[in-house]
Amino acid sequence: MSRAEGAPRECSAGRNLWAAALHLLFPTPCHVCGAPLDGERVSSLCGRCWRSLERMPAAGCARCGWPFPDAGAAAGTEGPLCQRCRETEDQFHLARAVLRYRTDGTARAVILQAKHGRRLSLLRHLARLLAAEAPGHLPLAGWDGLVPVPLHWRRRWERGFNQAEVLARAVGRQHGLPVLRRVLVRVRSTPRQHGDAEDRRRNVREAFAVRAPGAVRERRLLLVDDVFTTGATVNACARVLLDAGAAEIGVLTLARVE
Ligand SMILES: [Zn+2]
Ligand SMILES: [Zn+2]
Repeated sequence: MSRAEGAPRECSAGRNLWAAALHLLFPTPCHVCGAPLDGERVSSLCGRCWRSLERMPAAGCARCGWPFPDAGAAAGTEGPLCQRCRETEDQFHLARAVLRYRTDGTARAVILQAKHGRRLSLLRHLARLLAAEAPGHLPLAGWDGLVPVPLHWRRRWERGFNQAEVLARAVGRQHGLPVLRRVLVRVRSTPRQHGDAEDRRRNVREAFAVRAPGAVRERRLLLVDDVFTTGATVNACARVLLDAGAAEIGVLTLARVE
């Protein structure tokens, strides 16, 4: 072997040693709280942050799962509705989430890290958590398929993945449900937000289209997304799926905004 070929290898071994020494002196910090990552780490999070992800209670509003201060036995679709659901004409018949998304909460910080920090390994941990804990919030039997809320192709290309798809795949794998990836598409990247409420609803509705009506007709479908905020996005998806002949739409999200 010539010296020219050998030199880079020595260099790279030196670099690795140097990197290992630096790592010992300055361990990688947790991406949420900055504490050094230890043996309990979950992807780029310390064990303490992972354990402190805020959970949604299992009982709440019969339609959207929103926790009532005095929530009793409200699992299923019969039961008391929260103020949002009494005032909103939803297209989905129930929506459930596993985590609570609070302004200063850990769940919000972790989801933003996974999505905007493009940390696919962290997102996969969150997806497994969703798959494991979803049955405590809604029955997963009886659905004909999971439909991830689509990203516009440009956004997906920029991020490298669609977080809703990663979540849906984990749920589908664990519970034996097919993931219908290409039946629903986002045809407009950012819905225009001006105009009155009806204009805005129409704009967001026009952002989605069903590409494969045969795959949704008379099916009970569970939409999957990362965060439920006002419900406008999942309602828009549900509307076009119902227009294409779907029998019933449920919603499962990783988190619910408070
Ligand atoms: Zn931490
Ligand atoms: Zn509600």
